[in-house]
Amino acid sequence: MRQAPKLNNPAGPFIPLVYLDNNATTRVAPEVVDAMLPFLTERYGNPSSIHAFGGDVKRDIDRARERVAALLGAEPSEIIFTSCGTESDNTAIRGTLQAYPEKRHILTSKVEHPAVRSLCRQLAKEGYRVTELPVDRAGKLDLDLLARSIADDTAIVSIMYANNETGVVFPIDEVARIAKARGVVVHTDAVQAAGKIPIDLRNLPVDLLAISGHKLHAPKGVGVLYVRKGTRLVPWLVGGHQERGRRGGTENVASIVGLGRAAELAMASIEEERTRVRALRDRLEAEILARCSDTRVNGDRDPDGAGRLPNTTSISFEYVEGEAILLMLDREGIGASSGSACTSGSLEPSHVLRAMGVPFSAAHGSIRFSLSRYTTDEEIDYVIEKMPGIIERLRAISPFGGARGVASGAR
Ligand code: PLP
Repeated sequence: MRQAPKLNNPAGPFIPLVYLDNNATTRVAPEVVDAMLPFLTERYGNPSSIHAFGGDVKRDIDRARERVAALLGAEPSEIIFTSCGTESDNTAIRGTLQAYPEKRHILTSKVEHPAVRSLCRQLAKEGYRVTELPVDRAGKLDLDLLARSIADDTAIVSIMYANNETGVVFPIDEVARIAKARGVVVHTDAVQAAGKIPIDLRNLPVDLLAISGHKLHAPKGVGVLYVRKGTRLVPWLVGGHQERGRRGGTENVASIVGLGRAAELAMASIEEERTRVRALRDRLEAEILARCSDTRVNGDRDPDGAGRLPNTTSISFEYVEGEAILLMLDREGIGASSGSACTSGSLEPSHVLRAMGVPFSAAHGSIRFSLSRYTTDEEIDYVIEKMPGIIERLRAISPFGGARGVASGAR
């Protein structure tokens, strides 16, 4: 029997795992670890101190700011470092609402990450009107409906750049142009997009954009909020004068420096995402569809490549539970994720797949594979080889799937 391939890990020890859950988090790039280490050892100064220990460190934060700005096509002064994507999203939305207290309406989508969706639901309880725009079967927005849903008191349009579960990329450019024509502030959660597809804020009229370090090979616990020059925003964390008074709290220096290095590496690897990583994803997807019957891809498969993140595929397997597939994959040394969340003992199918009208049974049996630039051909071969047997075994014991199995024909 074939063994799980060794992960190509120049930085560390042998890890016998095929990691295809990069939308959950990514491994920290070895170059990022190297960049961070001095700030966890001898270069411990507080960047706010006026002595050399601090001033020295401040220059490295500034350099990281320049690198992140370059990744996004932004000005360094428009970059605020935060603790995570969730903080960036929360700051953008709450900070805008506070800046426009007379405006009580929020326009968002049904498929946002909880960092936006749960916040908006909380804000609805606090008295705001929240409109969640639907998506179609392919996971796409109706832009006419978006335009019609903007009201005179809409404070903010918050639509994600790319969906974390399906990889579907929204036309943020058009969303922003529609909202800006009505004078509404635009926020986008670009946590899954940054580093995987090009973002150029010189040509993209959004006001606020969130990213998260741990999704692009920097560590957990650091994020960015881009705030376009001139945008009104009330700070969320109020304290010292850090980040030019826009986000209090002593900077997470090592992680900020790491994120700067990760941004630089991401810029250099975007072409590889578009070609090699995408080809691996396409091969994985095509082979699974060919080898396992009653399967479908959730979201637009987009032959041109612009409508979906190059690293992500969400596949539904009828007659099996996603959680059971995950456990079997895990036993084979493969890490992926499912489209259902185990909450208080009940398996809730993902709100994203439900919003797309994916039937309950298919949503329950959905698996997300998300690749990275560290994913190898050999790893994809291994998953392709393992998958049919796993589905066959599970269907054989499923009350709905006894008669089903692995078929020759794709669907
Ligand atoms: N937004 C999206 C689309 C995400 O996928 C995630 C994390 O999964 C977040 C926001 C939250 O980011 P963080 O984990 O840095 O808080």
